[in-house]
Amino acid sequence: MKYISTRGGEEVSGSQAIIKGIADDGGLYVPKSFPRLGQLEDLKDLGYKELATLVLGLYFNELEDEMKGLVDLAYDGKFPSEVVPIHTINKGNFLELFWGPTSAFKDMALCVLPHLLTSSIRNSGEKDRVLILVATSGDTGKAALEGFKDVDGVDIMIFYPNGGVSEIQRLQMATQEGKNTYVYAIEGNFDDAQTSVKGLFTDPDLEKTLADHAYKFSSANSINIGRLIPQVVYYIHGYFDLVKKGQIQLGDEINVVVPTGNFGNILASYYAKEMGLPIDKFIVASNDNHILTDFFNTGEYDSNRELLLTSSPSMDILVSSNLERLLYHVAEDKDQVGQAMKDLEKDKYYKWDQLPSNFYGGFADEDDIEEAIKTVKEDYDYTMDPHTAVAYHVYKDYVEKTGDDKPTLIASTASPYKFMEKVLKSLGEEVPADDFAALELLEKISGVEVPKNLPELKDKEELHKDIIKTSQMEEVILKLVEGL
Ligand SMILES: *Cc1c(COP(=O)(O)O)cnc(C)c1O
Repeated sequence: MKYISTRGGEEVSGSQAIIKGIADDGGLYVPKSFPRLGQLEDLKDLGYKELATLVLGLYFNELEDEMKGLVDLAYDGKFPSEVVPIHTINKGNFLELFWGPTSAFKDMALCVLPHLLTSSIRNSGEKDRVLILVATSGDTGKAALEGFKDVDGVDIMIFYPNGGVSEIQRLQMATQEGKNTYVYAIEGNFDDAQTSVKGLFTDPDLEKTLADHAYKFSSANSINIGRLIPQVVYYIHGYFDLVKKGQIQLGDEINVVVPTGNFGNILASYYAKEMGLPIDKFIVASNDNHILTDFFNTGEYDSNRELLLTSSPSMDILVSSNLERLLYHVAEDKDQVGQAMKDLEKDKYYKWDQLPSNFYGGFADEDDIEEAIKTVKEDYDYTMDPHTAVAYHVYKDYVEKTGDDKPTLIASTASPYKFMEKVLKSLGEEVPADDFAALELLEKISGVEVPKNLPELKDKEELHKDIIKTSQMEEVILKLVEGL
């Protein structure tokens, strides 16, 4: 399988695409064609890891022989036996993606990526050390740190918006152990962090300095294709779960609803469809930062607006990077993608007139989120986090507006324990000032056991305390590679 940049002709192997993270022209790597799943009948009884081995092997065929071992390393002992449990309410099926080591859906892919990367490095004879730079709105940071800590040949550096993540998320990152981990809070929001990281990645002078010190950059953000492909697996596996539950017959179409920020998760479901999984509608759920809702309604991508801080901070994003990949896949004239991205950089705006008709955009404001959390708890005794609540609200809205009530997979992207303030408030509870008291309270109310990585934070030392300006990001990188 070959990969090409969304902005030009550069063609690389899967391993190279994973190592590089982003193409030299600033574009994102996409597969030249989509591999086919083949007969669903033959796949329907595969366990999660077997399916992951198969799907990853199709996309990264040069790693195919070792893939089973890599997948075992990624998921064994770190997830529940079913990996992604499903909670069903009528025809809505919550894909619980948050049972990994950091209680974030990002674990689904970030458990695998380090192994894909180290294998790719080995395979390609790469000698340089790899420095992973990550801009995070909270969850990616911790999941990436956990995935990459003490991995040979790799250093990992995280930038998160100071004050833009929940206290639990901050603690998760600040207490990170591992001799190759570096964590910085930056003065600015997530977009500032992401834009700066992209700029650093594509700065030729910095690249040269790194090379002089036998280093090269890579990315663990969902701009890295090695992050995206592992996410394809749970949609396919979830589909077969719906068959087993008797909600659908093999071959029937389903819908998916995904609470969206950087557009990686929903794009993974689109890849599943392009491989042959019967998905009808892709329902893109946003919060008050509903730039994607507006885009799918009008074809105008307009980031001339203020970024709002919401109770679903992992979706507080105005530059939704992976949308570029979708545009590439649906564009008749591929050159239009590069042009649109140039317009976006220059005017914070572009117009796109080939909107795919199977995408639907909707959003939930803070009241909608609160209402969703409260009603689902009252009516079904199920506790959702605010991101999942965004998805649920948009799902209900979609069904009401269109009458399309096909069985649906709803991506549940976070444990309610990571965003307790909004959850407890929505349930009419007094929010304890102490987060660890809040964990206990929520456990009592939800009846779901708190994942043990969270209460454990209480006794851990804060090892990373630096707050820096975005203009200092280059400086801390240089310090590291120059060994100062
Ligand atoms: C990252 C994240 C999202 C958004 O996922 P994208 O792939 O960026 O669209 C949604 N919810 C949570 C909890 C997340 O951590």
